[in-house]
Amino acid sequence: MAEPEERKNGESDRQDITWHRLEPMAVRERLEAAGPLPAEEAERRLARHGRNALAEAHARTPWARLGRQLRNFLIYVLATAAVITASLGHWMDAGVITAVVVVQTVVGFIQEGKAEEALSAIRHMLAPKARVVRADGQHQIDAANLVPGDTVLLEPGDRVPADLRLEKSHNLKIDESILTGESETVEKSIETVAEDAALGDQDGMAFSGTMVATGTGRGIVVRTGADTEIGRISGLLAQTTTLKTPLLEQMDRFTRGLSIVVILTGVAIFFGGLAFSGLPFRELFMAVVGLTVSAIPEGLPAILTITLAIGVRQMARRKAVVRRMPVIETLGAVSVICSDKTGTLTRNEMMVTRAVLSGARLAVTGEGYDVDGAVNGDNGQPAESVLLDELARAAALCNDAQVHHESGRVRINGDPMEAALSVFARKAGFDVDGSAAAWPRKDEIPFDTQSRFMATLNHDHHGHSAIYLKGAPERIFAMCAGEVTGAGEVVALNRAFWDQVITEMASEGLRVLALARKPAARGVTELAIEDLAEGAELLGLVGLLDPPRQEAIRAIADCHDAGIRVKMITGDHGITAGAIASKLGLKNTARVLTGKELDRLDDDQLRELVGEVDVFARTSPEHKLRLVKALQAQHGVVAMTGDGVNDAPALKRADVGIAMGGKGSEAAREASSVVLLDDNFASIAAAVREGRTVYTNLKKAIAFMLPINGGESISLITALLLGLTLPISALQILWVNMVSSVVLAMTLAFEPAEPDVMKHPPRVRNESLLRGFVIWRVAFVSLLFLAGIFAAWYWAMHHDDSESTARTLAVNTLVAMEMFYLFAVRFLDSASITLRGVLGTPVVLLAVAAVVLLQLLFTYLPWFNTTFGSAALSPGMLAFAVGAGIVLLVILEIETALRKRLLRADPG
Ligand code: ADP
Ligand code: MG
Repeated sequence: MAEPEERKNGESDRQDITWHRLEPMAVRERLEAAGPLPAEEAERRLARHGRNALAEAHARTPWARLGRQLRNFLIYVLATAAVITASLGHWMDAGVITAVVVVQTVVGFIQEGKAEEALSAIRHMLAPKARVVRADGQHQIDAANLVPGDTVLLEPGDRVPADLRLEKSHNLKIDESILTGESETVEKSIETVAEDAALGDQDGMAFSGTMVATGTGRGIVVRTGADTEIGRISGLLAQTTTLKTPLLEQMDRFTRGLSIVVILTGVAIFFGGLAFSGLPFRELFMAVVGLTVSAIPEGLPAILTITLAIGVRQMARRKAVVRRMPVIETLGAVSVICSDKTGTLTRNEMMVTRAVLSGARLAVTGEGYDVDGAVNGDNGQPAESVLLDELARAAALCNDAQVHHESGRVRINGDPMEAALSVFARKAGFDVDGSAAAWPRKDEIPFDTQSRFMATLNHDHHGHSAIYLKGAPERIFAMCAGEVTGAGEVVALNRAFWDQVITEMASEGLRVLALARKPAARGVTELAIEDLAEGAELLGLVGLLDPPRQEAIRAIADCHDAGIRVKMITGDHGITAGAIASKLGLKNTARVLTGKELDRLDDDQLRELVGEVDVFARTSPEHKLRLVKALQAQHGVVAMTGDGVNDAPALKRADVGIAMGGKGSEAAREASSVVLLDDNFASIAAAVREGRTVYTNLKKAIAFMLPINGGESISLITALLLGLTLPISALQILWVNMVSSVVLAMTLAFEPAEPDVMKHPPRVRNESLLRGFVIWRVAFVSLLFLAGIFAAWYWAMHHDDSESTARTLAVNTLVAMEMFYLFAVRFLDSASITLRGVLGTPVVLLAVAAVVLLQLLFTYLPWFNTTFGSAALSPGMLAFAVGAGIVLLVILEIETALRKRLLRADPG
């Protein structure tokens, strides 16, 4: 435990109170919070105590960022070159090289800054939330806005948002390993403990940052922010993301390896040249510098980083927030998406449309959560019976949701299905608002996806008590021996009738829920699962409508086009699930696999079935893990959604774990690599599309940059080996690589998705980029550049026997070819001479215009002429450069067509 002297000074009296030793009521008194705080008071306290947040470990200070730019291999090479040229007295060369170092550093610095901005914006979007009770009801707020005295609710999967003194605890177990290192969960209660109790023994406290494993609870905030136990220990929040992906690491390794080879070659050429060629030292030295600069793709890492950062931002705009960077690449390779049904594929705006009682089928009218509506019998008149009253009471009391109607708008708190039940109870004439006071709840068994039911124990003021239950019909039937008739008698349960009703309602896609009651003895105040084994009386069934999201239907069709199989995993009834699945347009809706059937299959059998079946019903979270494993064993790249604590293992195991930002628990979010801000399936499809686009853009940037370096370095090596004059000087190569190429390549980061991104099957996972097509392209285009450079050189020498003119033409030819190559690279797999190709995106046109202007300066401005040794060209020579570019484009176009032909003739 922290010693007092370690504690922060300042207003420290409050933090030194040993809250665990005080009764909850005493705590409330100390904090002047007899009940939930009013909003104004919370605001006042927030101003006094500060935000409930820990300082973020600062990503990187600008200085550190600058330092990182300077710790770059190429910078060392250039700096060394600058020093040597300066010491030789070649001030001009030294000056240009130094300028390049500065430009390179500044560009890297700015790009990295942009990338970090994108990431920190995302961190903000994932700010933790807390469920708080204020004077005006329950709210979900940013945990940073909690203040001492606030009342906080805890559920499984929550991270405790502040240090709390518990005042209610139901089976509450908390994982405190983050604080105590103890991996076993701690059972909480509301008891006080001795003043000197260790942290792990303070049962009545819940500590900020720890994770609720099971059960529910309510607590009073006693310490926030840096005053919390976790705040005292670390004071800092761990960072989640960095901009690193497998592809970037692969490129890093590639560049590093290449650099070493290049340097060694350079050194060899230098000493070999000194010994054998008789070239003057300076010329040889500059040639080797030129070679080094030409061979290392120095602009590439920056361009890849910015491409990723733009992708991340684009995804966040589409409501998919990336938590782990490598997932951007994986997203593009996803071949199966397993999605929850309720709320992700459906709207989760529920409404009870039917109710069936013993002997009466009732229809419920109205819209959404609007209370205008009625519960009508066969005759179309509002139904009325003791039984309906009792059903409505069960629906209202065995319920944690609140529905507020404020100036025509509805706001619901809690589970949308429970909100629908509360609206139903109102329509049936039950006084929902007064019920909490008339029938206070003494105890409860909260809903959980495993047990699929919920129960409450309520008392009225005359001492009568009753247990109300609601849940999946099979579960409730198992506890019921009888059913209540319209006259209020209890008769034997007519299973056949109810099963038929369930089939009827479920086939229409309604979610069916059973409601029941169980008489309880006077004075009982506690409810245990064992009490519910039998003896309940069925009150009736209700059918809830939860329409599919229109945008999900479209997104599913898009996924199918893109060769991605969509599977639905739900806790709902098999028939309901099948009906909704066919409304959504899933592929195989005829076969629904239930959790029970799943349990009977061994792993091999499951692997065989899992590819074909698209609907999984009455599943529990563990089934998800088995499904992920089975699909992965079938070579699927699996995206899996989840929201509860129990979903965490499956989310971790999936290639892309997707958590719900809205209804999802903190545990699910932390286990996932993507968080959906709007819980919407359509956002998953959008993220996949974005993932594919980012990956192609990375590929394009690589395919664009590498041949430029390749062409330049082969040209220099050829010239050196054959003892020819260098067709392009070292300084000119610096110019091309640092200015023209970077400006052109930058546009690829902004390249929009190709129109057919979602029309072809996903790429193979872990496919290495530097293989097959890309290697061929890089080699082929390098050779084309080589040919262009030498053709330009010899043609110019032939016409105008001047080295500087010939070099200037070689440079302009190279840059012109790059420009045309940019258009070819933008459509790697399709014809580029199309209207879209020519018009391009505004960024591309802008970049091309900028580069043309820069090349004109380079060629015609006297200052550039003296600096770079360039010379003015005749219009005919400029035409030669452009012509070479056009020839390159035509050749590549033919190559693309031929390759397509070949591929079609020989698929594989
Ligand atoms: P889903 O996959 O549709 O989200 P859940 O796991 O939430 O399914 O729910 C599974 C089943 O549990 C539902 O079909 C319903 O019968 C029952 N159920 C869901 N929510 C509640 C609740 N709040 N109280 C009682 N039963 C519920
Ligand atoms: Mg659910």
